[in-house]
Amino acid sequence: MKYLVLWILIFAGAILLYRAIVDIQESQKVEFISFTDLIKDIENIKEIRVKGNRIDGEFKDGRAFKTYGPVEWELLKTFSEKNVKVTIIPEEKTSWVRDLLIAWVPTLLIIFLLFSFIRGIERGNSRAISFTRSKAKIFVPRKDNKVTFDDVAGLDEVKEEVKDIIDYLKNPDKFKEFGIRPPKGVIFIGPPGSGKTLLAKAIANEAGVPFFYEVGSSFIELFVGVGSSRVRDLFERARKSAPCIIFIDEIDAVGRGRGTGIGGGHDEREQTLNQLLVELDGIESRGEPIVVIAATNRPDILDPALLRPGRFDRKIYFSLPDLKGRIEILKVHLKRVKSDPKIDIEKIARSIPGFSGADIESMINEAAIMAIRERKPFVDEELLMRARDKMIMGVERKTFFLTDEQKKKIAYHEAGHALIAKIQGPDKVERVSIIPRGKALGVTVQIPDEDMYVIDRDYLYKKITVLLGGRAAEEIVFETISTGAADDIEKSTDIARKMVYEWGMSSLGPIAFKSKEEYIFLGREIARHEDISEETARKLDQEVMNIISQCYARAKSIITENIDKLHKLATMLFEKETLTSHEIDSIIFSSS
Ligand code: ADP
Ligand code: ZN
Repeated sequence: MKYLVLWILIFAGAILLYRAIVDIQESQKVEFISFTDLIKDIENIKEIRVKGNRIDGEFKDGRAFKTYGPVEWELLKTFSEKNVKVTIIPEEKTSWVRDLLIAWVPTLLIIFLLFSFIRGIERGNSRAISFTRSKAKIFVPRKDNKVTFDDVAGLDEVKEEVKDIIDYLKNPDKFKEFGIRPPKGVIFIGPPGSGKTLLAKAIANEAGVPFFYEVGSSFIELFVGVGSSRVRDLFERARKSAPCIIFIDEIDAVGRGRGTGIGGGHDEREQTLNQLLVELDGIESRGEPIVVIAATNRPDILDPALLRPGRFDRKIYFSLPDLKGRIEILKVHLKRVKSDPKIDIEKIARSIPGFSGADIESMINEAAIMAIRERKPFVDEELLMRARDKMIMGVERKTFFLTDEQKKKIAYHEAGHALIAKIQGPDKVERVSIIPRGKALGVTVQIPDEDMYVIDRDYLYKKITVLLGGRAAEEIVFETISTGAADDIEKSTDIARKMVYEWGMSSLGPIAFKSKEEYIFLGREIARHEDISEETARKLDQEVMNIISQCYARAKSIITENIDKLHKLATMLFEKETLTSHEIDSIIFSSS
């Protein structure tokens, strides 16, 4: 069938070509003259051939011409009298059929092809048209050359989190028997090149099941309906090889919140998304041993329907590797090339903050290529450093790279948060890191002590103080401030505002005032609530400012009192990039 379509296309193409050639030839050889010229030039004409309205002929000098005109007896007689040879050619009966064929066959063929194409799409997985088939790559577990957990460096917590997926895929019946709710949809969240695909493959290999790989954007096609039939096809194929893993990279291409697309709804994506939801729910209700893993760097734009229980209800975060992670990744990938055993891996790792696993892999690749080009026996430190520079300087600059100066500032900023949080609370500091993640350049991860239902004023004051601790540390140490604290400032202002306007926690007493935002319309503050007089409003703003400045003063005084500890913390953070709660404690609470 595929070949038939091909032949028809070739045939149609040939006809079109033939017609084009004939047209060109004709127009080149034969001069078109007007009917008036024909009459005027009658002396010079040797012969004419008349066929209906068309008159072909030759001049005495041999030039051919053509024209159209009313061919009447009078005219023909005149020609004959001038010794022009006149031939009348009958209009062939077949000619119009041929003309019609030549004119219409190619067009009809194209229409026919398009039609069968669309029919194929409607029928879904029609074998005739592979267009609607999912192009998912399948990786069947193999003994040789397979990605295992050992190839995934770092990411220890993540690996721990996905262990039960392996157990389930190895032994789905056990889960059923014991009535354990099996893992179904998992979403891997993290920057590109952080090892999401790699880990998913490793899971499949560890469990010994096939792995279906598809990129979200390949579901989005020009034609409405193609995407959804591809989704259907993908799941159908997977079902046949269950237990297995389906991995959908860049799920955001499909799963973007509905109605957020440019120009409102996007039919194709919506249909595709719906189909995906149907398939996910199908797996859930039929209890098929298929685990669907989706990857994205933008969980915030996903349609909430995707994240509902029973769908992608488990989120696993990947971040860029810290120093320890980078050392491990370097080791894994250096094993694959011939390398100098004397390479100082830690030194290399230190020089590439912000590199992802994929960046490290391509850096080593680059170094290996240089080694071959320069006829060196193996990859050595010097080559690695040059490869690194090339990547950092690279035109693309995909890599997020920090200079030491920037890194130092971030270290002090985060150390400021961590120090204050450790000294005054309120929440436990779990870890602090200067590895960029999403928008933030660093993070101080805090966990509230227990589930909080009621929050008291003291807690909020402390919270704001911690938030402002980053900026305070920067100001004290560097005597300049940066934009790095923008997010902190927004958050703390928000809390202070709520304290004053909504929670009645200011000297104005327990009154709830409508917060100002509600009166901002189209970017303009159009009216204030009548309850709030001009004067009250000014007082409210003053209260907000008081809270912020009190907290900021407190943050600065805590830091100044503990400036040695801040230096130690920041230095250590700069060195190791991530500090655990325990490590922070040993710096802050050591007796020295
Ligand atoms: P993502 O799917 O997160 O964009 P990939 O899993 O495709 O990233 O990673 C691309 C490549 O980078 C992998 O094939 C691997 O060689 C390398 N890589 C990324 N993370 C790691 C890691 N943790 N350990 C080893 N190699 C890694
Ligand atoms: Zn901060």
